[in-house]
Amino acid sequence: MINEIPRPEFTEMLIGGQWLGALGGQTFTVNNPARGQDICEVPRAGAADVDRAVIAAAQAFETWKKLAPRERGKLLLAIGNEIDAQNESLARLLALETGNALRTQARPELKTAAEVFRYFGGVAGELKGETIPIDERMLNFTVRSPIGVVGAIIPWNAPAILASVKIAPALCAGNTMVLKTAEDAPLTVLAIAAICAKHLPPGVLNVLTGFGADCGAALTTHPGISKLSFTGSTAVGRSVMRAASERIVPVSLELGGKSPSIIFPDADQDWVADGVIAAARISRQSQSCTAGTRLFVHDKVFDSFVERVAGKLKAIRMGDPLDEQTDMGSLINSKQYERVCSFIQEGLDNPAIKLAAGGLPAAGGAGFFTPPTLFTGVDNGWRLAQEEIFGPVLCAIRWSDPDEMLRQANATHYGLAAYVWTHDIGAALRTVDAIDAGFVQVNQGFGQFPGQAYGGMKQSGIGREYSLEGMLESFTARKNVCLNVRTPSAAA
Ligand code: ADP
Repeated sequence: MINEIPRPEFTEMLIGGQWLGALGGQTFTVNNPARGQDICEVPRAGAADVDRAVIAAAQAFETWKKLAPRERGKLLLAIGNEIDAQNESLARLLALETGNALRTQARPELKTAAEVFRYFGGVAGELKGETIPIDERMLNFTVRSPIGVVGAIIPWNAPAILASVKIAPALCAGNTMVLKTAEDAPLTVLAIAAICAKHLPPGVLNVLTGFGADCGAALTTHPGISKLSFTGSTAVGRSVMRAASERIVPVSLELGGKSPSIIFPDADQDWVADGVIAAARISRQSQSCTAGTRLFVHDKVFDSFVERVAGKLKAIRMGDPLDEQTDMGSLINSKQYERVCSFIQEGLDNPAIKLAAGGLPAAGGAGFFTPPTLFTGVDNGWRLAQEEIFGPVLCAIRWSDPDEMLRQANATHYGLAAYVWTHDIGAALRTVDAIDAGFVQVNQGFGQFPGQAYGGMKQSGIGREYSLEGMLESFTARKNVCLNVRTPSAAA
């Protein structure tokens, strides 16, 4: 157990290149959820803070958009390198504020954050348009321009990656940004903002700390914002989209999921069980929108595969996130803890449902620790299989007819991720084709890599921001230019 709670270096907001408190002087407390201890206070921004941040970003936009893309790229590369150089201190801060385990989650998350900056630094020269052959009298081409000030809002579950996936593509494309951190996890993003501020002109990136209802809502309705980019719950995503519709600004939404992991009869193997657990994002308490928490297990291998997964779940070491031995840390806050426990209780109370691993946490002790839990006997239509729990609660559902299994796998209003486990390439490809999900993996359960098109179908979202194409679609406006190249000569 590591005892000291270090005081973070950056606890104010970045606005116009300066570190500032809220104009109203209000603050709120950031906690360490694993130990139930306060870490520090940060400003609670209101509408006036949003306003000055948007003004700073609008001023910076005038020069940032004119900087050659490859020069912007160099700055992003430098930021990525510095995030990597500070991996350990940033990861410790992340583990401290989120409860995510240092070894299994926080360090790898910061690695990916650095990779995201490097990826967009590298593709900056690819902000190209097209030429379109209309007829020989016309030269028709498109150019990509930045949109303006982007208003970005992120949640607490993977703040370093999610901030990077907003900042890097938006700035690469020549936009400037006002980013609102999540109230439960603002500190790592402020530390990343400090690295950005060393390399970027003032006002290009502005980072606010505040609550959704006052700071977030004010950002979504601010007239100076030209594009909204939101990651979070489907419910709040709806309100962001409503705000965007009022002013007709483009919006990208990365929302929730309830993703299936589909196990074919040839996949009753140890590495598949490990992959399914990785896909369920157990190492971060399944607090992930891509968590594959509905396990569709073929009838022929149901009992043995469930036993295999259950055995591995029982061996997972829950504990202090900063302890190197810990596989899985704490949930983020008491609200999530109560919610996850209520779902576990619902499973325990239903006589049709059997508990294969986990269950309710033991009473007492600090922290919001909930053991990885696996239920069988759950009907795909029940709340346990339909609602995004955002906690380590898995349901194994038996299948034998592939068409019926696929119908059930798609019977959700989400469509974010899916995982397919089989050596039968035909079965895998038929499943990939039939599944309604934006991010599908076969025989692996990784997170996203920079360059992949990542995003949801149905109520899991709109837009793709992780890739070059995603950046072009989400953060640039296309201008079509058409020139008559056969005008009569001036002398004629
Ligand atoms: P989660 O349940 O993962 O916290 P939320 O959708 O509630 O997801 O929150 C994601 C982000 O959206 C957070 O930064 C939060 O402060 C912000 N938020 C919450 N409510 C609103 C709102 N009405 N308008 C804008 N942002 C909001």
